[in-house]
Amino acid sequence: MSARLIPYGRHSLGADDIQAVLKVLESDWLTQGPMVQKFEEAFASYCGARHAVAVSSGTAALHLAALAAGFASGDEIITSPITFVASANCVAYVGARPVFADIDPQTGCIDVREIARRLTPATKGIIPVHFAGQPCDLGAIAALARENGLTVVEDAAHALGSSYLVDGEEFRTGCCAHSDMTIFSLHPVKHIAAGEGGVITTNDEKLYHRLCLLRSHGITRDVDRMETNDGPWYYEMQTLGFNYRITDFQCALALSQLKKLDDFVARRRAIALKYRQAFENELALGLLAEHPNARSSYHLFVILALGPDRAELFRALRKKNIGVNVHYIPVHLQPFYRENYGYRAGDYPLAEEYYRRAVTIPLYPAMSDNDVNLVIEAVCRSVKALLS
Ligand SMILES: *Cc1c(COP(=O)(O)O)cnc(C)c1O
Repeated sequence: MSARLIPYGRHSLGADDIQAVLKVLESDWLTQGPMVQKFEEAFASYCGARHAVAVSSGTAALHLAALAAGFASGDEIITSPITFVASANCVAYVGARPVFADIDPQTGCIDVREIARRLTPATKGIIPVHFAGQPCDLGAIAALARENGLTVVEDAAHALGSSYLVDGEEFRTGCCAHSDMTIFSLHPVKHIAAGEGGVITTNDEKLYHRLCLLRSHGITRDVDRMETNDGPWYYEMQTLGFNYRITDFQCALALSQLKKLDDFVARRRAIALKYRQAFENELALGLLAEHPNARSSYHLFVILALGPDRAELFRALRKKNIGVNVHYIPVHLQPFYRENYGYRAGDYPLAEEYYRRAVTIPLYPAMSDNDVNLVIEAVCRSVKALLS
């Protein structure tokens, strides 16, 4: 048994990260300085996208992406019921209707056939969520979007550093080869930390400029983009925007972390492989499959309680100081969604069945081999005890 709690996720900060932040704290700029652009350029280059726009959170990134996409009242936008509420909330922010499409129980990702089934003349966009770090079937989603004139915003909050194959060609998540925009989160449990933070990547010039405007009050100081110019003090507010900016010291941290991302992902994949090997012959447990066309960056590792009761397994593991969690309560069952959009239990049976079984076990790059073994032992012993 572990004496201290092993959390389900945790950031990995080194002396290099701390130095990078200190350097900015001693500089002239705490915000709106050079680090933001530096981070954006490095992030866009990592993902293989033309542009990256850094903002104050992943949720702000989703809100701005929904606005830039032009989602509005009367539109229906399709996302997964198995996600963090923010994926659907951004649709509600702009007055559009969040519509869900059930998951593929093999992967936990949205099922493209279910998206096709939910299309109506009001459908304007799709927000596929790369669940637990595994990219959705983006080739099929892009084809469906093209046929129906839909905007695709990937929610890749779980999936920085992942990649996928389309027709045998490999693409890195965030390159936007199969979407209009991709959003990421820089929350400390995600792949790289900025405290709070988010990023939107895009290859579309128009969307890029719109995102930049919306991030900072709808204001531009770019002379080439202004209607008039009264002088060097002049700026123009061209649309109703927000203050969704990120600070320079956060971007210094994120940039320093980005340099280590590939190592973080490699460690996450190595731990996931150990878990798979330990649990694949455990008939009382189910695992999500890694699709042959997807290379997950493993934000989360989920086990499915097929034999034991999920709540009992959860309690047994917490008692052993394993910081298990549940990702996610189906969004359509949240009171806000039931009351405002009329969703009910039974609307998305595969998502609901997944939710009844799911337990997230610890996974983060700084986990020691010993921690991994403690988790494996605790899971195997708990399952055995609950079934006897
Ligand atoms: C974390 C997360 C978000 C929101 O990111 P924040 O930076 O916490 O605002 C959005 N979507 C998903 C799927 C997430 O896991």
